[in-house]
Amino acid sequence: MTSETELNYYEELCRLKVQYKALREEYFLVSASSRFHDIEQADFCSDCNGSGYKLYGSTATWRGGIGGQAMTTSVCDKCWGSGSKSKPWPSWREYEALKKKVDK
Ligand SMILES: [Zn+2]
Repeated sequence: MTSETELNYYEELCRLKVQYKALREEYFLVSASSRFHDIEQADFCSDCNGSGYKLYGSTATWRGGIGGQAMTTSVCDKCWGSGSKSKPWPSWREYEALKKKVDK
């Protein structure tokens, strides 16, 4: 006998699978056409090797400060996801500081 909760769970799982597949296809399309194409190997960010992501030693990631004791992958705090040394994307840290100021 399958309960309603299990059915809901299964439905959600199927929905996420479809979404994941679509996003993955989109990601490969976008990364092939623009991002990785635009970046010369010499311009790869030295912190993340051009991936835009890096592994942090705590769950605080780019925010720094106190975090849980777990290795966590998050956005690179040098290029902020662009993977390029010369063309970093806007800083998440600055955005967060700005947002805090605005929200006050
Ligand atoms: Zn980087």
